[in-house]
Amino acid sequence: MKRIAIGGMAIESSTFSPHRSGAADFSVVRDAELLARYDSLPAHVGWIPLVYARALPGGAVERAFYDAIKAELLEHLRATLPLDGLYLDLHGAMTVVGMTDAEADLAEAVRDAVGPGCLISASMDPHGNMSHRLVTALDLATSHRMSPHEDAALTKQRAVANLVACLDRGIRPLRAWVRVPVLLPGERACTRDEPAKGIYRRLPAIEARDGVIDAAVWIGYAWADEPRCSAAVVVTGTDAAAITRQAQVLAQAYWDARAAFAFSTASGDADWCIATGLASAERPFFISDSGDNPTAGGAGDVAYMLERLLADPALASGRATAIWASVVDPTAVARCFAAGGGGDVELRVGGAFGSPGSARLRGRVERLRAADPVGGDIAVVASGGVRAVLTTRRKPYHYITDFTELGLDPAAHDLTVVKVGYLVPDLFDAAKGWVLALTPGGVDQHIVRLGYRALDRPIYPLDPDMPAPSLAPEVITR
Ligand SMILES: [Zn+2]
Repeated sequence: MKRIAIGGMAIESSTFSPHRSGAADFSVVRDAELLARYDSLPAHVGWIPLVYARALPGGAVERAFYDAIKAELLEHLRATLPLDGLYLDLHGAMTVVGMTDAEADLAEAVRDAVGPGCLISASMDPHGNMSHRLVTALDLATSHRMSPHEDAALTKQRAVANLVACLDRGIRPLRAWVRVPVLLPGERACTRDEPAKGIYRRLPAIEARDGVIDAAVWIGYAWADEPRCSAAVVVTGTDAAAITRQAQVLAQAYWDARAAFAFSTASGDADWCIATGLASAERPFFISDSGDNPTAGGAGDVAYMLERLLADPALASGRATAIWASVVDPTAVARCFAAGGGGDVELRVGGAFGSPGSARLRGRVERLRAADPVGGDIAVVASGGVRAVLTTRRKPYHYITDFTELGLDPAAHDLTVVKVGYLVPDLFDAAKGWVLALTPGGVDQHIVRLGYRALDRPIYPLDPDMPAPSLAPEVITR
């Protein structure tokens, strides 16, 4: 029986966010709990759980926490050798304080431990970065083909199935890798829209070709200032000429389309979005408060959008209504709980992790929810027509039920403002109107104003007049 170990570490972390991700942010699973994350692991293989740590996107990972997970993974790995295969479950946009290319560091350490004969297959998020170091440490790599990532489970199954098939058939795969010097926020590469839709739609036909095992395209991660951040293509297979040709075709298509990647909906500054939503007759009307989106790595403590909502005379007076979800502010939440439901509060919210700015919020505590499993204690404060959701811990608002369990109905308000980028499926299905606000924060969509220093240049769109790059794939063998 073949023996395959499973482990990994997954987070998307912004170096432009003041938040730091550590033990309190990660959930760590081991043993049977780790294996239970994967349905349909082939039964003819012996599966060996190592350790897997996963967190909501956030700020850079504390070095000591990364080192501890890496040490535990390597210790389990060495105790279980020899292995036929290893499945690494990664994201690809993990920044660790004081390091660059953390996933390559992990993959290289794993490679050193297992030796060159063991096949390593990685599944990743397309908003991760596929660097030369990383692809060199791996034998197989793939990423999601849908953004939003409705195919996340399928990606993991594909990474496992390709690994098992290579082991069963004695195949040592080759990788054709190309870095495409284009850096996009994920919101410009939603696969509901062209050109991302058409590029990703080519992948199944490419992987069906003779000599090809898998084809994958990485958008890369725009909110980390590391040299590696960029788009990349990897085509894996057994026929060097075929994978090279297909990788080059995909890389060229991506480069040629670089100026066509656009937001899925109209975008503008906060005041334009508020005015547009209030003028629209469509309800529910969603506004993405995108710069501080916690599910892209924003800290979640930026109150800028609340300040703009309260500055609108119709909303401030209650003639119009808005839900704003949300801000992390444990101190403000504690004051709401002390005041009790129906109590009057006068708060300054925002900046709990150090993000600049705060907003004055004077109003009535409308709802208290104790010990939410994700957000901790949560308060809803009504001020004029604005209902602001305050949480103790970082929490995304991705489901209509996240609102209804607070007694808030997006359809019964003029605006529903959420810290999110492109609308996630449940909100997308509910939305009758939607605009994207280019608000400030650690995942600012206006990436040119972020001020990169370490990023490999030239790269589009930071260097719009750069010469056409070489998109010749490098074939990596072991
Ligand atoms: Zn992603």
